[in-house]
Amino acid sequence: RVKERGRGNFSFYQPQMSAGLLSRMKLEHAMRQALDKGHMAVHFQPQVHIRSGRIVAAEALLRWTDPELGVISPGAFIPLAEESGYVVALDAWVLEQSVREAAHWLAMGSPVKVSVNVSALEFRQPDFVDRLTRVLENSALPAQWLELELTESILLQDAQEMALRVHQIAQLGVGLVIDDFGTGYSSLAYLKKLPISKIKIDQSFVRGLPHDAGDKAIVGAIISMGRALGVELVAEGVETQAQCEAIAQLQGDYFQGYLCSPAVPAEQFRLRLTQGEVEESADAVSFLPDN
Ligand code: C2E
Ligand code: MG
Ligand code: MG
Ligand code: MG
Repeated sequence: RVKERGRGNFSFYQPQMSAGLLSRMKLEHAMRQALDKGHMAVHFQPQVHIRSGRIVAAEALLRWTDPELGVISPGAFIPLAEESGYVVALDAWVLEQSVREAAHWLAMGSPVKVSVNVSALEFRQPDFVDRLTRVLENSALPAQWLELELTESILLQDAQEMALRVHQIAQLGVGLVIDDFGTGYSSLAYLKKLPISKIKIDQSFVRGLPHDAGDKAIVGAIISMGRALGVELVAEGVETQAQCEAIAQLQGDYFQGYLCSPAVPAEQFRLRLTQGEVEESADAVSFLPDN
């Protein structure tokens, strides 16, 4: 009988929390604490115009540094934050920080666009466009300096509703970017229907350049399609000069990747902006004919 078993064993008879739920609750708590304690920060990774070596934009990437565990990669915690719903709070915070920082670049006289990742859950919030509008109104940043990065899958579910939202955001003057292009189960139809301003070619297609014939064909096809549609193209994850050269030869104009810089803290990124053209990226383009 239960009583004879003693207190400690009662839990055995209670409905058990699944290990998954428990760890999600712990993680959400940890993320909330990290944000409160200032252990979360937005870092910025430059996007570079290949021919001039100029920084034209920066992607805002969330960084969590735990005093004991060290750096926790967004690849590890964003998917869990999406499950728990906490990603809505995180994305809203990153957006505010990013808009504030980009307003600062503008005030410094070195305006570049800031490109912010938006998770599907955040994009689907009924008040998302209203909040976005308010963030811009309360900032010194004209909408043209902000871009939002969406994945293809966001546009698939409730396609009509999402298309409406995309149009509303474009109406504000905010740029819309398709992230990780080519990795989603997407139709290409949305590209001609929606006001997409930029496509980011997924790094999985860049990795094999310049040697892999398949990657070359895919990247070349994406670039010529984007050009025909009047959409800007950025190759992601460019690590070597040879990859950068291949992108340029395939008529690509922009890249983002360790070849120029990883994501760096805001102060460091400001410093690079004031230094003007970045040496590394200038090196990266030294093979190009000057025109
Ligand atoms: P993403 O949006 O596709 O971001 C690009 C990722 O590639 C970043 O990883 C970046 O650090 C990494 N990367 C950049 N250049 C190179 C390179 O040359 N080589 C290699 N191997 N990697 C490179 P990170 O920062 O770990 O972020 C991973 C993903 O987490 C992002 O992929 C994005 O989907 C998500 N994420 C990051 N910050 C946020 C955020 O604030 N909100 C949301 N919803 N998602 C975020
Ligand atoms: Mg991104
Ligand atoms: Mg990406
Ligand atoms: Mg990605």
